[in-house]
Amino acid sequence: QQIKAPDDLNRLLKEIHQQAMQIQSGNVADYIPALAAVEPEQCALTLTTLDGEVFNVGDTDTLFSIQSISKIFGLMMAMDRLGDDLWQRVKMEPSGQAFNSIVQLEWEKGIPRNPMINAGAILISDVLVSHYSTSKNAVMSLVRSLCGNDRIYADESVHASEKEHGHRNAASAHLMKSFDNIESDVDEVLDHYFWQCAISMSCENLARSFTFLANAGVCPFSQREIITKRDAQRINALLSTSGMYDQSGEFAFTVGVPAKSGVGGGIVAIVPDFGVISAWSPKLNEFGNSARGMFMVRELANRLGLSVY
Ligand code: GLU
Repeated sequence: QQIKAPDDLNRLLKEIHQQAMQIQSGNVADYIPALAAVEPEQCALTLTTLDGEVFNVGDTDTLFSIQSISKIFGLMMAMDRLGDDLWQRVKMEPSGQAFNSIVQLEWEKGIPRNPMINAGAILISDVLVSHYSTSKNAVMSLVRSLCGNDRIYADESVHASEKEHGHRNAASAHLMKSFDNIESDVDEVLDHYFWQCAISMSCENLARSFTFLANAGVCPFSQREIITKRDAQRINALLSTSGMYDQSGEFAFTVGVPAKSGVGGGIVAIVPDFGVISAWSPKLNEFGNSARGMFMVRELANRLGLSVY
C-alpha cells in the first residue's frame, strides 16, 4: 500500500467530499419517525490511521444516530462473556435477506443467521441483559472509553420512537423466545436493543472508536488491548460478509474491506493494518446504506488501493 503524505490525504478527502455533495439520490430513513427529522444534506468523512492521525472533512463533529453500527459494540461484549458458546445461539452466515427479515428465523428454529441482522443483534442484546448487571451502563462505558468522550449518550426520542414502531423487531424477539433462544424478558431485551441503536456519535467518534479493529484489537490512541487479535479477525470477517445489509457482496467486490452501516446514514470501514474510514450522510440508497457515504468510502478506498483481497 502506498501511504500518502498528510497534505495529500487532506486534499484527497476534501475532493471526495466535494464530489459526494453533488449526489442527490436517496431518502432519509422514515420508518423511525425521529430519524426522518434529520437535516438530509449533512455529510462527513473521517480517516484515522494506525499512527494516530485523524483527518476530518465536513460535519464530522455532528452527532447522529449510529443505529446498526452499535451491533459491533454488543457483539464484542457478548463474545467476551460467552466465548465460543455464543455460536450455538447465533450463526456466522450471510443472510441474503433484508436486515429485518423474519422468514429465515422460522426456518432455522429461532437461530439468527448472523449478529449483524436485527434478529442476531436482538439475540446478542439478550446475552448482554442476562450477563451484565446493568447492560446499558456496560455498553455506554465501553463506548465512552473507546472514543475517549464521556459525553456520549443515547437519544431518548429515537429510543422511544423505535420502541413505538418496532413491531417487526418485537416479532423476531418473540419468535426466538418461542424457540427458547431468548433467556430474559422479551420487553427488557427489546428495550436494550432499541436503546443501543439510539446511541448518538459523530463521524470522528466512530472512526476513533473502531480503529482497534484495524490494529489486531489494540487501540492505537491509548495502546490498550481492547479485544484479542483472534476476536478482531472474527469480527472483521463477520463485517465483510454481513456488515452492509444486502449490499455486502457488492461492497466486498467494489471496496474490499470489512464495514458496517446503519440506517442513520453512518458507515464505518475497517482497513486492517492501515486505519478506519468513517462516513456519514443521512440519505440512504435502496439497500439502506448512505448514498453519499458509500461513494466516499468506495472512492477513498479505491484511490488509496485499500482492498484486502
Ligand atoms: N434500529 C433499527 C431497526 O431495528 C436498526 C436499523 C439499522 O440501522 O439497520 O430497525
